[in-house]
Amino acid sequence: MYEKTIKFIKELYGNQEFTPLSVPKFIGNEKKYLNECIDTTFVSSVGKFVDKFEEDMARYTGAKRAVVCVNGTNALHLAMVLVGVEQNDEVLTQALTFIATCNAISYIGAEPVFIDVDKSTMGLSPDALKAWLATNAEVRNGQCYNKGTGRRVKACIPMHTFGHPVRIEEIVHICKEYHIELIEDAAESVGSKYKGIHTGLFGRVGALSFNGNKTITTGGGGMLLFMDEELGALAKHLSTQAKVPHRWEFRHDHIGYNYRMPNINAALGCAQLEHIDDYIADKRATAVAYADYFKNVDNIIFFTEPEHCFSNYWLNVVILKDNEAQQSFLQETNDNGVMTRPIWELMNRLPMFKRCQHDTLENTIWFADRVVNIPSSVRIRKNS
Ligand SMILES: *Cc1c(COP(=O)(O)O)cnc(C)c1O
Repeated sequence: MYEKTIKFIKELYGNQEFTPLSVPKFIGNEKKYLNECIDTTFVSSVGKFVDKFEEDMARYTGAKRAVVCVNGTNALHLAMVLVGVEQNDEVLTQALTFIATCNAISYIGAEPVFIDVDKSTMGLSPDALKAWLATNAEVRNGQCYNKGTGRRVKACIPMHTFGHPVRIEEIVHICKEYHIELIEDAAESVGSKYKGIHTGLFGRVGALSFNGNKTITTGGGGMLLFMDEELGALAKHLSTQAKVPHRWEFRHDHIGYNYRMPNINAALGCAQLEHIDDYIADKRATAVAYADYFKNVDNIIFFTEPEHCFSNYWLNVVILKDNEAQQSFLQETNDNGVMTRPIWELMNRLPMFKRCQHDTLENTIWFADRVVNIPSSVRIRKNS
């Protein structure tokens, strides 16, 4: 039934026996920088690539400060510590997200509340957020409380799904009105912009991931982005065991975390960042090719970047007619060497989170029944 589509995808990726969903690409200075780490013995938590990667990423994104972490999940955890999320607080987020967002909320002992997503972005809907708050929230003494549970609603974490920015400006306004701290889960959206501004810079803090399947990779890795330099400096301090700088004394002034990215991972990141514009241009060209192709395919819609947005097209998305069509598309593509997958099982359906509050999740469920991710790796082959 989907033979033509399978043939198209295979050809796009050079007719490999197996076409993966998203694999890393190393075309630059990766080996050179890694060798330098080994030759100098700076493989661990101190070294010039750590500082360089933070500086280069701050310049690339426009952040005032960038702080590396071991992965995106602990970057999100630290983000919540930084904005003051505490045990028993509620955190508003999406049911349509990767588990990391909710795991990080759970590490604090806080609880996620699941708000619906937008049809145009697949990310947190400002309309649904506003509606939930209007019904459930009240502001007392400069803090937001859930009238039903009596708990404080401390933070909101929208996620830029598959690299497509959410309607972040509206979310910023709503969070301000309700005295809710805004953290962006920008793990999937490095290079993606809303009205020309990099995702992750709209809230108090934004979290990126450099896991192996993301747009650029450090093996494993993450990063926090800040426009507030002081908060960035505190992040650096807490992520490095909160050690008070001294040449030989070991003194610590906070409960800290060992969340600092090692120099070898940062070396990989520096090399990857040198080619990020090529990668994203290539991924956007792939998206154009898909969009052109699917224009002429009945009952499959290729998802394109929302208004005012520049998307990195981390993972490409097609929307099938219904759940039955989604299942047969998944079956046929995977049977024929083209890796595809549905959206993550919705968070409110997982045993750990099924008791959490949520709204109707109307669009969330609509997407879950229809979305399939199709191959999205960078196609550049030559060494440059
Ligand atoms: C990848 C990802 C993360 C972070 O993942 P790590 O593997 O810990 O780097 C967080 N949130 C979302 C939505 C992600 O896709």
